[in-house]
Amino acid sequence: MPLDPTRTLADLKELRALTADDNGAQRVAWTDTWQKARDWFAQKIKALPVEHHHDAAGNNWVTLPGKSEKSLLIGGHLDSVPNGGWLDGALDVLAGLEILRRINEEFNGRPPITIRLVDWADEEGARFGRSLLGSSAFAGTASIAADRIRTDRDGIRMEDALRRCGVEMDRFPEAAKEQKYAAAYIELHIEQGPVLERMGLPLATVLGTKGVERHNITFHGQEAHSGSTPMNARHDALAAAAKLALEIRTIAKKHPDAVCTMGSVKTFPGIVTAVVGRCETTIDQRDLDPTVLATMFREAREASERFAGEERCTVEWSRIWNIEPIAFHPALLDLCDQSIREVAQTTHRMPSGPLHDAAEVSRAGVPTVMMFVQSLGGISHNKIEDTRENHLEQAVTAFDLLATKTIAYLS
Ligand SMILES: [Zn+2]
Repeated sequence: MPLDPTRTLADLKELRALTADDNGAQRVAWTDTWQKARDWFAQKIKALPVEHHHDAAGNNWVTLPGKSEKSLLIGGHLDSVPNGGWLDGALDVLAGLEILRRINEEFNGRPPITIRLVDWADEEGARFGRSLLGSSAFAGTASIAADRIRTDRDGIRMEDALRRCGVEMDRFPEAAKEQKYAAAYIELHIEQGPVLERMGLPLATVLGTKGVERHNITFHGQEAHSGSTPMNARHDALAAAAKLALEIRTIAKKHPDAVCTMGSVKTFPGIVTAVVGRCETTIDQRDLDPTVLATMFREAREASERFAGEERCTVEWSRIWNIEPIAFHPALLDLCDQSIREVAQTTHRMPSGPLHDAAEVSRAGVPTVMMFVQSLGGISHNKIEDTRENHLEQAVTAFDLLATKTIAYLS
């Protein structure tokens, strides 16, 4: 049987029935429901002549050996956020499974190069706040010392939760062995945003993942009585923060794909009868172009100092986290465009705001590309996350074409 995208839809629905409740998908990594999803997946691949193992970081590898050891990697993640959607991560893995079935059949179990399907462990970081855990171990960028002591809501340490699933964090570096023979990596994902729906397009080529600058910004003013302190005698930390909250929008709008968010604002003492003496905020800036990201960071910093001065306050910045922009492989971008055009006539190139495992694989030096399929309403990480069935079928078909073109490119 050739490629059958309806089989991917049936698999997705089966997985949803098994691992979702009334509030959505519950496949949070390192939980029993996640293990249940993985056990189900293990049953699904039984009919294929594949080698199956978990690496030292818990990544789930399915290998169809080819005439050459050179390998095409196809990846995704079966884990979800709590109350998540049915497609995020699972579409990637189950489309990959359908491609594996097609390739196995077409080449009588012996494709020209080796095909490896990987279900990354803990992409979401939903339980311990550490995303891309398994793929970072693969890439050799894991932060084991900082991560092992992380705790979940119930105070369970990450190290102990992983041990319960048979994963020892000290052995994480061994996962980098899986890089051997990896010649290319492809990943299909729902867009999780509104761009493709607005453009009326089903599919896009992903240029790369945006770099992120994430900072705490604290304005220091002076607490004072709200009744007795004249307006022109105040050191109002919230006023300075409020000006910045608006200014970062102006700064981001100068660049077509840049985004900037002030996601948290806390005031102290935070009572109705006091001028705000201290205001703690956070900022998250993203763009695919490192120069744009650096410019936005510099401009936001300068603006914060200007507004602090205007309100007779001071301001301090401290970095929470950052990652550089990661651009995908030029030749694979072209193959992805061609594959989409053959299925949907028109394609579009866009950066990804969210990070994906593909970013870590690319950091490891493996030529990488991602394909996006439209998300209805741009909604994800929510039980209402959805994509039209005909778009899902087009996605599986285009992604399969990308696999075929990539195999030809590597051969
Ligand atoms: Zn995902």
